[in-house]
Amino acid sequence: MASRLPPLRGVLLWLHFFLLIGLGTAYKPLSDGFLRAIPSPGDEFNIDNSTGILAPLLIPRVPGTAGQVVAQRHLVDYFQRELPKWTITWQNSTQKTPTSKNTELPFANLIIRREPPWVKPGQTNFLTLVAHYDSKLKPDGFIGATDSAAPCAMIMWAAKVVDGYAQQMYDEMSELGEGGDVDMDMGIQILFLDGEEAFETWTDTDSLYGSRSLSNFWVNSPNPPAQKFYKYKTPLSQISLFMLLDLLGSSEPSVPSYYTTTHWAYRAFSNVESRMRSLNLLESSPPSPFLPDVNKTMALGGISDDHLPFIWRGVETLHVIPQPFPRVWHTSADDGPHLDMKVVRDWARIVAGFMLEWLDMMEVWSGEEPEAGSTLAIHDGR
Ligand SMILES: [Zn+2]
Repeated sequence: MASRLPPLRGVLLWLHFFLLIGLGTAYKPLSDGFLRAIPSPGDEFNIDNSTGILAPLLIPRVPGTAGQVVAQRHLVDYFQRELPKWTITWQNSTQKTPTSKNTELPFANLIIRREPPWVKPGQTNFLTLVAHYDSKLKPDGFIGATDSAAPCAMIMWAAKVVDGYAQQMYDEMSELGEGGDVDMDMGIQILFLDGEEAFETWTDTDSLYGSRSLSNFWVNSPNPPAQKFYKYKTPLSQISLFMLLDLLGSSEPSVPSYYTTTHWAYRAFSNVESRMRSLNLLESSPPSPFLPDVNKTMALGGISDDHLPFIWRGVETLHVIPQPFPRVWHTSADDGPHLDMKVVRDWARIVAGFMLEWLDMMEVWSGEEPEAGSTLAIHDGR
């Protein structure tokens, strides 16, 4: 008997259409000129530059030790100094670990946000950039440059790149009275999570101390009743995409697309990389792209990481972690000198490009566009 159902392909197309609509606004690719205007972190990522972004994080950062506090201060100082319009809040917990005997260790997640000026609490949808800032207890003196000092630095840099355009966007929207529509109320949220690492052996209870605490806190933090007509019941549902960076900074990374529901975002991210490469804007020249999995054939299952407590509560995740892991993973060699700095700087710019595109910043771009065929000097400032 003939089926009256529409052909599967048609259904999938409609599904795709509704997903795109559901996820919000027009997704307009950045122009070539805009991609060229994304600056390199340059000396900010120099591992010997003690006043830069990266070097101060290249220390042991174990919860409950002095290094944890130094790292926290660096993250906070940076935003207070360079990005004063971002709000900083802490989510604290204390928990016992297998190595802390009966002492509760402090775990402190940092939540840093840039929101449109017109929003009420619970109204903004957040592109959420995430990395853990703690480091592993063992081996002694472990730095965790890729795990995840460098990813933290990439996010810090990308936030600075995006900030000026966000201001312009918010100013223009305020002037035109465009704010207030749920989809247009886009903000940026950064989570620097604590206590990702196991103290002894990775188990459900010895790992992810910070992310378990934060997701638990948020699921129990309903937004104010006055805002209930918005679709965001809790801070968890305000996360439009949970973009988790981990183990980045080694040579020749290969990051698969782990989740079907965010594969479209992976493709957009990958597209930014390939366009930047074809415009000669990136410094590294790997044999294959960092984000090669556009047909989603590479990833077999997910990897345990800070996204799990969020994904279990329905948060959409883009997990940016390479397979295989870096060779230096969880060894004393995961330090500053073993980073591939071209790769680290390239990641920072690709992430910034993806954020600008997600936030629809072509709306405010008015910079120069190179004429077709012309070559601009693009290697300045490195
Ligand atoms: Zn680790």
